[in-house]
Amino acid sequence: MSVAQTTTADEAGAKPRHDWTRAQVRDLFELPFAELMFRAQTVHRANFDPSAVQISTLLSIKTGGCPEDCAYCPQSASYDTGVRAEKLMPLEAVLRDARAARAAGASRFCMGAAWRSPKERDLKQVCAMVGGVKALGLETCATLGMLSAAQARALKAAGLDYYNHNLDTSPEFYGDVIATRTYADRLDTLAHVRAAGIAVCCGGIVGMGETREDRVGMITTLAGLRPHPESVPINMLVRVAGTPLAEVPRLDPIEFVRTVAVARITMPRSMVRLSAGREDMSEETQALCFLAGANSIFYGPKLLTTANPGRDRDQELMQRLGMSAIECVTPSLRGA
Ligand code: SF4
Repeated sequence: MSVAQTTTADEAGAKPRHDWTRAQVRDLFELPFAELMFRAQTVHRANFDPSAVQISTLLSIKTGGCPEDCAYCPQSASYDTGVRAEKLMPLEAVLRDARAARAAGASRFCMGAAWRSPKERDLKQVCAMVGGVKALGLETCATLGMLSAAQARALKAAGLDYYNHNLDTSPEFYGDVIATRTYADRLDTLAHVRAAGIAVCCGGIVGMGETREDRVGMITTLAGLRPHPESVPINMLVRVAGTPLAEVPRLDPIEFVRTVAVARITMPRSMVRLSAGREDMSEETQALCFLAGANSIFYGPKLLTTANPGRDRDQELMQRLGMSAIECVTPSLRGA
């Protein structure tokens, strides 16, 4: 038995660790691919049904005109991408989309707004949306930008299960991507969300021109959060014309799969979500991501403003892989 296999037996069912060092995470990235996949699979199977996938639907409830300057984002007002600024959607329209998502098999409904942070008037309306979606029996998730402690508590009181706020990349590369808010701002929002008792959805984007060392730094930071984020979205950059990252060279899909595998090993009990970028990904790459431990996807033809595989294509892929949708994963909604 190889040293790596011996390590696997120890780490597979072990409690999540929060003391991963950069060197250890780097070593995982550098493993031979077969070894890395074996370890990720072993950890995955010790914690999850390897054929089950959680399905989320993401709706843009307030599109475009964002004052932030995230270099990957077509919704930033700083870039000319053809995305028009819209007003916050009315409650009834959001609930209609949530019912449709539920009918299509989604268990979680995420609402995204292109804000730096919500204004008080807007937050009230979002709280009504959260309450309405929750009453449909769906898990609720929102991504609204930075939150104060009081705003996080208000969302929790309205019934919010998850809050998405990504770290995006490593602390070192972050300044190359975003200038209008700091890494520390992001960590503060995550702390407010945690303190309010809302589950955390936090991951990042790869393929933005960062180095492997940046991917190591991002995963090390995520795996150092206590507790780990319940959901860890790993996004492949969608290169949108008009954004500063439109021409960045494509990342090797194998490196993307490696990132998913390292996220699985270092955060063994988190849902690792295959998020943006699936539209441009081969089905074989997606299948490798599931083997590497991804167990959550976004469903539906659009992810905020960029394309996503249609439901039929996803259902067909799930069928061919013999995978099935998990119902609810939030304990409170399972009655646990
Ligand atoms: S990622 Fe979010 S915060 Fe950044 S520009 Fe886009 S909508 Fe605004």
